Amino acid sequence: MSAARTLLRWYDDNRRRLPWRTPPGTRPDPYHVWLSEVMLQQTTVAVVERYFARFLARFPTVERLAAASEVEVLTFWAGLGYYARARNLHRAAKLVASRGSLPRDPTELTSLPGIGAYMAGAIAAIAFDVPLVPVDANVARVLARRHGVAAPLPGAMREIRGLAARFASDPAVVARPGDFVQALFDLGATVCRPADPDCINCPWQNGCIARAAGIAATLPRKAAKRSRPQRYGAHFWLTDAAQRVLLRRRPSEGLLGGMTELPGTKWRASPFSRRAALAAAPMQAPWRRIGIVRHGFTHFALEITLYAASVPTITAPGFLRPKDGLSAEALPSVMRKCCDLALRAATNRLAA
Ligand code: SF4
Repeated sequence: MSAARTLLRWYDDNRRRLPWRTPPGTRPDPYHVWLSEVMLQQTTVAVVERYFARFLARFPTVERLAAASEVEVLTFWAGLGYYARARNLHRAAKLVASRGSLPRDPTELTSLPGIGAYMAGAIAAIAFDVPLVPVDANVARVLARRHGVAAPLPGAMREIRGLAARFASDPAVVARPGDFVQALFDLGATVCRPADPDCINCPWQNGCIARAAGIAATLPRKAAKRSRPQRYGAHFWLTDAAQRVLLRRRPSEGLLGGMTELPGTKWRASPFSRRAALAAAPMQAPWRRIGIVRHGFTHFALEITLYAASVPTITAPGFLRPKDGLSAEALPSVMRKCCDLALRAATNRLAA
């Protein structure tokens, strides 16, 4: 039996039940596949499972998503991070709604905002049964181990993609491309795990070079990482007599574009003195430094000094929201951390 057929047999008995999936041999809704792939970029399955149904309940079709405002889409994305994904999904939904359907062809798919070569391959294979084997981190790990690829990532990706392409012409894969791709995903997530591969329960244990050599957990090798640079900022929690908080919208392009935030400084490589920070305060007020919020982005680590004040009336630019109604706002995780700290500090002050 071919390795592909062996894996498909294993998948039929062991596949994960995920909200965006349909039983083996049936075609899922292309919009569901697309949405799941966008959410799964940079986010774990466990987290996406929590957001997927809620997002789909609000935007059940591409047309409903296309008709929504960007702020509403970002609000339903808030907490998932990497908000450019949501903006691109929204832009692409408008294009798809106007042409009538999601394209089947991977090259056409890559013309849509936010869809790169990997995602186009995954959508084409899973939603339309196009015989392709796209390579994500899970698939790269499984194939690097099975074939004993010793060169480090990311340089080894070319070789690994070549191995994946060879599978794509296997008759078992041609018959069930979507299931094969998802079988690889599941094998990587549940058996050929990053730190502790469960080789004894693996359908590919016979024929796996890394297992035979006893080096499974050491593959794939990775080129040494450069450390993330540190950045600093200061933000301001300003409330008025009606217990409303001053917020503002970030510019629509760039990091966290279009999301809601507390007013603050730009983020830079050196810390802000109190004086430099308060120069960016939204208005004159009795500012208190209430603490530090740390947050990791992909390319840098951020340390925010948070200041708080209360005034009878807020005259600064921005918009006001009740401080107990912030869950409805499109606040990214870093700003939720700031709001949580400010709310805790206010509670502690009242209790003191
Ligand atoms: Fe991964 Fe082990 Fe299976 Fe090889 S035998 S594919 S290393 S789980």
